[in-house]
Amino acid sequence: MHQFRYRQGILHCEEVSLQALVEEHGTPLYVYSAQTFRDNYQQLHTALKGLDHRIAYAVKANSNLSVLGLLAELGSGFDIVSGGELFRVIKAGGDPKLCSFAGVGKTAEEIRYALEQGIHCFNVESIAELEFINEVAEGVGATAPIAVRINPNVDAKTHRYISTGKAENKFGIDHEDAHEVYERAASLPRIQIKGVQMHIGSQLTSVNPFVEAVERVVPLVAQLKAAHDIEFFSIGGGIGIVYNDALASGQRDWWDRHDDPPLSPVTYAKKLVPLLQPLDLTILLEPGRYMAGNAGVLLTTCLYEKKGHAKTFKVVDAGMNDLIRPALYQGHHEIVPVREDEAGTRVTADVVGPICESGDFFCQDREIADFQANDIIALMSAGAYSFTMASNYNSRPMPPEILVEGAQARIARHRQSWDDLIAPEP
Ligand SMILES: *Cc1c(COP(=O)(O)O)cnc(C)c1O
Repeated sequence: MHQFRYRQGILHCEEVSLQALVEEHGTPLYVYSAQTFRDNYQQLHTALKGLDHRIAYAVKANSNLSVLGLLAELGSGFDIVSGGELFRVIKAGGDPKLCSFAGVGKTAEEIRYALEQGIHCFNVESIAELEFINEVAEGVGATAPIAVRINPNVDAKTHRYISTGKAENKFGIDHEDAHEVYERAASLPRIQIKGVQMHIGSQLTSVNPFVEAVERVVPLVAQLKAAHDIEFFSIGGGIGIVYNDALASGQRDWWDRHDDPPLSPVTYAKKLVPLLQPLDLTILLEPGRYMAGNAGVLLTTCLYEKKGHAKTFKVVDAGMNDLIRPALYQGHHEIVPVREDEAGTRVTADVVGPICESGDFFCQDREIADFQANDIIALMSAGAYSFTMASNYNSRPMPPEILVEGAQARIARHRQSWDDLIAPEP
């Protein structure tokens, strides 16, 4: 359940008015709800009780130190994809022993750093990488714990840019080659086999592809367990959230319908736990979007309305550099006014940013509230893959991030200044 609601006609995050936050911090502005992160974590944790499991939050979804800190407090592990993410986790008070290092292109420097920090596991994506990790570990006199990422070749039925479990994707090792790769791993002196991993894609709204993948990989995991010393099986992340709805946004029951993910943790657990339990292994989960997606919004101010011959454009002060999901993979964000009374009049329009790219839009030909210059609007469900993908394109400073807890709001990241933009350049 997320914590963004209208109270006395003003959109709030928990008990904090988003209008008041904008008056203090300006726009564009990211706002996160601590309670939503906690609820999401606890709901998944509770749904899986009875299964020996651990949640490793996928840091790339939202890597703000304050967010990582609150998840570390809950006892979460972390799924990282770079040395920089490991550095963040450690700075935030996270335990490196609960970190899994994924990704197809780990460098020597990153592998060395992760070994020094004593991470839980490297999730290996190729034989070349396996041999390279062995070599780097040898160089520093360490042994590297590994799992091999298996590509189960199932269709996750999600956008092709965020589908990762098909044979043609760059991720993982073909299911048929798994035994050979584990044999190779067992023969390498600086490699310690720890587990098996998979991750089939992101924003899955049905449990069926997960079931299909788990059913396909479980027999292999059982065989590998018999042959090698395997402690865990990681089933990856991918649980989807609600981004859009046929209902016009801003209407009362929109909020209720967006409380629950389309794929609830209960449904997920009910289908998967019986398949996983017989393995008698620790099961790892790597949710990113599920934990962070509905825990954040991006607030922006309308600058101008521009009526062209073909279309009406609402030009706002946030752009694709702040939130690239719509431009990158047709990501959908509901767009609602912070003042509820502005939701009444409707118009079909494009909401666009100031960036000099035609791809710089947040919606096209969508029926939205007819907001006008100076009105503040919220792009909903912008907690995951939003700030983490922000850039300085067009030399625009990155927006600040605020973390709300109850009636408290604190700055989790300051707005960049123009000086910050040029600081690294001699
Ligand atoms: C990105 C990623 C995740 C998280 O995916 P979500 O869809 O955000 O849950 C989990 N595991 C791996 C290996 C990833 O690359």
